[in-house]
Amino acid sequence: MKKSIEISVVVPMFNEKDTIMELYSQISEVMEKTKKSWEFVIVDDGSTDQTPEMIRELAKKDDRVRPVIFARNFGQQAAVKAGLDYSRGEGVVVIDADLQDPPEVILELIEKWEEGYEVIYAQRTEREGESFLKLLTAKMFYATIQRLTDINMPMNTGFFRLLDRKVVDVINQLPEKNRFFRGLSIWVGFKQIAVPYKRKARFAGETKYPFSKMFKLAITAITGFSFFPLQVAMYLGFISSGIAIITIPVVIIMRMLGNQAFLGQASTLIAVLFLGGVQLVSLGIIGEYIGRLYDEVRGRPMYIVREAPDMDE
Ligand code: UDP
Ligand code: MG
Repeated sequence: MKKSIEISVVVPMFNEKDTIMELYSQISEVMEKTKKSWEFVIVDDGSTDQTPEMIRELAKKDDRVRPVIFARNFGQQAAVKAGLDYSRGEGVVVIDADLQDPPEVILELIEKWEEGYEVIYAQRTEREGESFLKLLTAKMFYATIQRLTDINMPMNTGFFRLLDRKVVDVINQLPEKNRFFRGLSIWVGFKQIAVPYKRKARFAGETKYPFSKMFKLAITAITGFSFFPLQVAMYLGFISSGIAIITIPVVIIMRMLGNQAFLGQASTLIAVLFLGGVQLVSLGIIGEYIGRLYDEVRGRPMYIVREAPDMDE
């Protein structure tokens, strides 16, 4: 018999041995207060520390804990997707493992859910203990997304949110693999609302997002929701042909009048380098989209599980 579960709490974990016990006790405490039936779907994203053993240990003691253990590291987007796939609750809370998202906020998310909202995203009003570089890149990221994509992405939101089952089912059915969860959960529509909160510093351990991973995520976000980069080549093409069309007659007339200006290798070299650069960058952008297209077409799964909970239990 399938149990009826009101709330699923989904947590992706990658090397979180120092935070897991504290997270578990804080989440349990908060969920007790709600008086709702709940489950804790912990997805181990190929940790190389003791995280998987600790998750299995917890599951033995508490049958609300449902471990999903990946065969290797597939990234947080994939881990959250797996968490949604294996969740059974009528409402699903997605939260980071490091306690940067305070579990008490879940109570406010649930309150809004009970008022009838279907996508309730937690929005950071402040961030503690994060480097200047992280804040700056985050700001640039939001500005770019706002400008380039068709979705109206709220600033300063992370994974932390509550989704109604209806929304989870829609998101789970999307076949795309290069996912940007934050964007998708806005893109689907439904009744949405923000709940403000103060983002804390990490409870323990280090961020798993070095600059390279953040850059990759930004590219996924942009290519996933916008064709603008593909059109840039066309705009630049129009501009440079425009310049050529205007300057050719100017140069011819000046030459006929005996003016020797505009000669010289430097100007030729600059023009060649500029156009060569534009062409290579444009090719690169097309390549980026084709690579993603190939990735989708190839049809490999977004993640592979080593162990997963029984869905009928
Ligand atoms: N995470 C994951 N797979 C990864 C990287 C991170 O599941 O490849 C998890 C991590 O354990 C944490 C959450 O995603 O629960 C957010 O990661 P982190 O705190 O390092 O990111 P930040 O808060 O610095 O953006
Ligand atoms: Mg964090």
